[in-house]
Amino acid sequence: MTISNDEPPRVALVTGASRGIGAACALRLAAQGYRVAVNYGRSAQDAEAVVKQIIANGGNAAAIQADISVAGAGEELVAETTSQLGPPVVVVNNAGVQRSRAMIRQTPDELEQMLDTNVRGAWSVTRAALPHMYDAGWGRVVFISSVLGATGGPGDSGYGASKGALLAMSKSLAFEVSRRGITSNAVLPGTILTDIVRDVDPAVLEANIAAIASRRGGEPKEVAAVVSFLCSPDASYVSGAEIAVHGGGWVTLP
Ligand code: NAD
Repeated sequence: MTISNDEPPRVALVTGASRGIGAACALRLAAQGYRVAVNYGRSAQDAEAVVKQIIANGGNAAAIQADISVAGAGEELVAETTSQLGPPVVVVNNAGVQRSRAMIRQTPDELEQMLDTNVRGAWSVTRAALPHMYDAGWGRVVFISSVLGATGGPGDSGYGASKGALLAMSKSLAFEVSRRGITSNAVLPGTILTDIVRDVDPAVLEANIAAIASRRGGEPKEVAAVVSFLCSPDASYVSGAEIAVHGGGWVTLP
C-alpha cells in the first residue's frame, strides 16, 4: 500500500501519554484525525481519562499499557496498537524520566533508568513501528528531546546525555528513511509546566522562568502544536530537524 502525502494513514502511537506533553499530543493528533494509541506505564486511570476525552471529542483512541524501559516492550506495544487500532505510522517518543543530580551524587541506577526509558525505549518503539511505515510509504517519527540535550545543564549529565542521544538518533534515522516518505524530527522543549517540574524547588523554578525570554513557562499544548505540524502532510520536507519550543530561550538580563 502506498499512501500519498495528501492522505496519511491514520494511526498514531504516543508514549507516556497519560498526562503532560504526551496527553496534549494525543489529544491534538486525535483532533487531526489520527486514531491514537495512548501508551502508559502505570497510570491506567489517567490514560483512560485521555481516551475518554478523545472519544467525547469525536475521535478514536485506546489506552495501551507498556513500560517502555523494559527490553522487548517496543515490539509488544506496536503489536498491541496494531491489533486494537491498526498499524502505527506515526510515533511520538514522549515518555521520559528526569533524575537531576550532580554527577558526583548520581547513582548508576538513576542513570540506567534514564537511558533505558529515554533512549532504548524510544529506539525500540520506533524500530518496531518502522516496518509499518516502510509498508505504507509514509511515516512520521518525533522524538521529544529537551533543550538540555543540546546545551547540557547543571545536575543533568545523565538526563542531558539521554536527550542528546535522541538528537543523534533522530538525525541518523532521517538519513535512513527520508527517501521513503518517512520523516524523523526532534522537538526540544524548554521549561514546560507539567508534573516533571513538580520536584523542582519553587524558588529555582521561579528564577528559571524569570530568565526565559517570554517570562513564562510553556504549556503542554504549545509543544503539541509543533508535534502536530510535524505529523501532518504539510511537514513532508521537514526531516532531521531540531525544533526548540522554549519561549525564546534563557537570557541574561541586563
Ligand atoms: P511527565 O512526567 O508528566 O510525563 C512523562 C510521561 O512519561 C508520564 O506519563 C510517565 O508516566 C511516562 N513514562 C515514564 N517512564 C515510562 C515508561 N518506562 N514507560 C511508559 N511511560 C513512561 O512530564 P512531561 O513534561 O509531560 O514530559 C514529557 C517528555 O517531555 C519527557 O520525555 C520529558 O523529558 C520531556 N521534556 C519535558 C520538559 C518540561 O519542562 N516539562 C522539558 C524538556 C523535555
